[in-house]
Amino acid sequence: MIKKIILLLGLPGSGKGTQGAILSNELALPHISTGDIFRKMILEESKDSKKLAEYMNKGKLVPSDLVNKIVRKFILSDECHKGCILDGYPRTLAQAEYFISYIDTKVSVIYLKIDDDVVVRRILGRIICTSCGKLYNKYFDKPNKEGVCDGCGANEFIARDDDDKDTILARIEEYKKETLPLIEYYKHKGKFFTVNAGKSKEQVVNELASIIKKI
Ligand code: AMP
Repeated sequence: MIKKIILLLGLPGSGKGTQGAILSNELALPHISTGDIFRKMILEESKDSKKLAEYMNKGKLVPSDLVNKIVRKFILSDECHKGCILDGYPRTLAQAEYFISYIDTKVSVIYLKIDDDVVVRRILGRIICTSCGKLYNKYFDKPNKEGVCDGCGANEFIARDDDDKDTILARIEEYKKETLPLIEYYKHKGKFFTVNAGKSKEQVVNELASIIKKI
């Protein structure tokens, strides 16, 4: 049986990717980010890549039957036998219901709460190291040495295809319509924690450190 599942909920740009990677390191649990999995599938031109890109580039959610099929395989793999940090899944009530049908572990939910205008500014500055995938922000969270990745020393960074303003606004709309109802849903299931994700990265890291002691 899978032992520990931590689910990160929050608007795009609320810090799920950054905090998920830190938690994964601290808890020695894999960080399963559906967005990262799908972006990799698109780059590798796998069977479903065209369909994934079609939705993602418009800021729309990928249909749940396809998402569920892909993610279930990851969560039930040996890599996740001790548990995992889930970032970006479940993202709709239908996905949450499907998830419960094959996972009987109680989940702990961390909700990274943040205002829309803050995430728009954050996402527009987001850049990623092409070599190791480390995330930065060209306004708030630059590499220590200009143009050089702190993680691997590479010097090439890109923005995500879906990080332009129109797509961000569409993703925020999708979040409000499809994902926000999950907050109420999970408040009554397992453990639920709310974090003020508008604070600095370090402050959020500290808050999460005290939360994981209670999980
Ligand atoms: P993210 O990296 O989590 O912001 O996800 C990027 C994009 O991937 C989203 O805008 C969706 O198009 C797609 N995506 C990621 N996770 C899901 C999910 N659980 N359900 C549907 N679409 C998803």
